[in-house]
Amino acid sequence: MDFSSLTLAPGWQAHLGADLTAAHRRPSLGDLGSVAETSLLELGDRRFLREPSGNWLSGRQFLDRSRAGASALLAAGVRPGDRVVLVGQNSADFAAVAVGVFLAGAVLVAANPAYTDRELAHVVKDSRPAAMVCDAELLERAEAIAAAASGALPIEGPGSDLPLPQGAIQILSIRQAVAHEGEWTAGSLAAGRSWPAMVAYTSGTTGAPKGALLTHMHGLGVGLIGSLLMGSSIVLFSRFDPAPLAAAVAGEGATMFFGVPAMYRRLVSEPACADFARLRLLVSGSAPLPPDLFDQIRSLVGAAPLERYGMSETAMNVSNPYEGPRKAGTVGLPLPGVEVALDSKGEILVRGENVFSGYLGNPGATAERFDDGWFRTGDLGSFDSDGYLRIEGRSSDLIISGGFNVYPREVEEQLRSHSAVADAAVVGVPSQRWGEEVVAFVVPTAGAEVDADSLRTHAAERLAPYKVPKRIIPIDALPRNAMGKVLAFELRRQAGGA
Ligand code: AMP
Repeated sequence: MDFSSLTLAPGWQAHLGADLTAAHRRPSLGDLGSVAETSLLELGDRRFLREPSGNWLSGRQFLDRSRAGASALLAAGVRPGDRVVLVGQNSADFAAVAVGVFLAGAVLVAANPAYTDRELAHVVKDSRPAAMVCDAELLERAEAIAAAASGALPIEGPGSDLPLPQGAIQILSIRQAVAHEGEWTAGSLAAGRSWPAMVAYTSGTTGAPKGALLTHMHGLGVGLIGSLLMGSSIVLFSRFDPAPLAAAVAGEGATMFFGVPAMYRRLVSEPACADFARLRLLVSGSAPLPPDLFDQIRSLVGAAPLERYGMSETAMNVSNPYEGPRKAGTVGLPLPGVEVALDSKGEILVRGENVFSGYLGNPGATAERFDDGWFRTGDLGSFDSDGYLRIEGRSSDLIISGGFNVYPREVEEQLRSHSAVADAAVVGVPSQRWGEEVVAFVVPTAGAEVDADSLRTHAAERLAPYKVPKRIIPIDALPRNAMGKVLAFELRRQAGGA
């Protein structure tokens, strides 16, 4: 790469001055197990987390469940550095087992419970876990997947220092783990370890999801560990539903809400959400927050939402400031310790301790994304005159629907596995409800007719619900360029999206 052509972002500190720099100084983090344990002990009998049922758990009660989870893992033979796949709906027990994994010094691999067997089997096979912990209704599926994935091969490249499981993958239910009655005296076993905290699976544009080795992370890291570090409490929901959310904002005196643009789109049209005006801070990320929605949120709550930018491989990179101007249509300035640059094509590059160490067992994919220590995000951007970053689009064709990533290629492959489909192309089309919705164009095989309902059922058997096309449009032939590449922009236009 020609470094003379890099455009560097000026960075947060230069813009916001000494006060804010001090306020945002990074705390010195120990391992996540110790951080959680210390904070939960400090919270003691004070409220820490409200379960979706409405029941509050104190810091002490949550820690008891986490320690039970850790002792259940140790009893099942899990050792420091082993991977533990955790699959479940949002619940206090899910979060407690996640902390239990950190306490046991193991590496957390959280998988989406909406995954089909095919998707889950890939995560299990690729991460070579010693144990799987899941919701009770997933136990049977987990047993079958674990049996098929046994006999782990050595890991090459990133993660090759991690231990391989000895013997069969142990299966535990989340409920059983948090009720385990083993002794927990060791404190965190993770102290001094060099393992990553977590493997986050990100769907690769090349097809199979890759596991990003992370020492820092967002959902659990900011939501759970961040709350613990600040001594704040969490109101947990099993799913997004505006009315109970608004009721909790008022009823529990909440001060912050973190959501994705698709959630905000629904919130601004709900009368009950007038209560959001009580919130001190509303944060948006994971997909572009359109300026019209930014304005609607500001008029609903009387304060500008704070938009920021991040990704599985880097956690949060760039953020609009807490104190200082938040600009619609931008994701703000690089966070302390993060360097951001644009190459000559406008691709956003990131460097800093927040950047992951590589894709588990995938040296080739890792090398492709790094250039002289810079991580290539695959996103295109520009800086405004104040150095605020604007995301212009993705150089890849990633679709973000309802906050979830959908890679066209994966959906296309599953559609093509139907006997009536000769070819398929999947694009994302802007949608009021989902941010983007998945639309599939399919070319029927000669003499066959595509029945959209049966094709959607076929897709639903193989893909998580958010990846299943909302619309299926038959087409005689896919538009292609001279190189034979499908013209996605043309399809988006035909689907009414551009
Ligand atoms: P993930 O790895 O699932 O977190 O997805 C990361 C991708 O989401 C990034 O590469 C961006 O394309 C997109 N993204 C995240 N935050 C924003 C944002 N605030 N605006 C636009 N795109 C975003």
